[in-house]
Amino acid sequence: MRNCIVSQATTNKFLANAAIVMIVVQSVLSYFVEDSLSGGLATFGLAVAMFAVPIALYFARPASAAFKYLFVFFAISYVFVLLYAQKGNIDNLFLLFVILAGASIYFDVRFTLYTTFILCAETMLGLFLYREALFPLLVPASVLSLMFNFLVIGALLAFQGEWGKRMMNSYESVYDRSITDSLTQVRNRAFFDEYLRDTAEQARKYGETFSVAILDIDNFKAFNDTYGHPVGDLVLKATAMTVQETIRKTDVLCRFGGEEFTLIFKATSLADALTIAEKIRSSVERGEVEHEGKKLSITISLGLAEFKPRETPAALVARADQALLAAKQAGKNRVERA
Ligand code: GH3
Ligand code: MG
Ligand code: MG
Repeated sequence: MRNCIVSQATTNKFLANAAIVMIVVQSVLSYFVEDSLSGGLATFGLAVAMFAVPIALYFARPASAAFKYLFVFFAISYVFVLLYAQKGNIDNLFLLFVILAGASIYFDVRFTLYTTFILCAETMLGLFLYREALFPLLVPASVLSLMFNFLVIGALLAFQGEWGKRMMNSYESVYDRSITDSLTQVRNRAFFDEYLRDTAEQARKYGETFSVAILDIDNFKAFNDTYGHPVGDLVLKATAMTVQETIRKTDVLCRFGGEEFTLIFKATSLADALTIAEKIRSSVERGEVEHEGKKLSITISLGLAEFKPRETPAALVARADQALLAAKQAGKNRVERA
């Protein structure tokens, strides 16, 4: 259903309010049309009686899922009772449209617009065809129902803005989760792949350059083996945080998998990337991560590669990976370039 993002309580509240407004408007209308207080009161009494059950349910359980069915059932019954009691007076059309407008909350604001236009057309036709007979009934009924329909449209539009915002928020949070690594809170592999592709495309198109780094925690397995996995996780989180704090906003850090991370340095040559990578390496080495009062000595190795316009993103990553391997073979805790 379209409005599944709207809470049951919100929808119920709107329908309950619509019912109350309808009772009042219908009673006032009846008073003026029949020109008698007793007529108005009778309509009021009947309407209150007919909507007593759904409204009582609303106040007892505002978020009830059964409310809308009860509302529609009693609303339709009410129209039939009125049509029967008043022998088909035209002002009951008004009521029908109010109910349609109320029901439109389950569909779309366009539904209300359409019913309003249909009502306008019918009113015109009715005025034209049955001028003398219906005029006193049609005019107040139509004017009031049009007013009410526009109120409903206004309210629906207002609500839709709110629903739209909520939908966007929930969409954004789902999207955010889908591109974030849950342990380290940096971007994940899926994001990296897409971002690298976009960055490469853009660089090719505008003749820019960029560099990529693969970062691997040295002897990480030893943290797991010596202190257990929770400490391994702590090392991962702390390292990600240190790197994140060292880089610029435009540089993107992603968890590549396990204890490996990637970095994309936009508009950065290999020489500049080397300087940044060295800064990252030394800030991790100087990091103050403790476990049970003992400082953990964490170091990382980095492999760097600068983008070549003709190579694929996968080839670029492979070159950075080769450089990382060279850094490991040269004794770890260092930066190597492709
Ligand atoms: P090197 O210096 O050569 O990189 O050695 P290393 O020990 O860091 O590398 P190795 O690939 O041998 O070990 C990586 C380990 O990382 C193995 C795996 O169990 C562990 N690991 C991968 N993901 C996680 C994780 O999310 N949490 C924890 N605690 N450990 C992880
Ligand atoms: Mg590794
Ligand atoms: Mg490692």
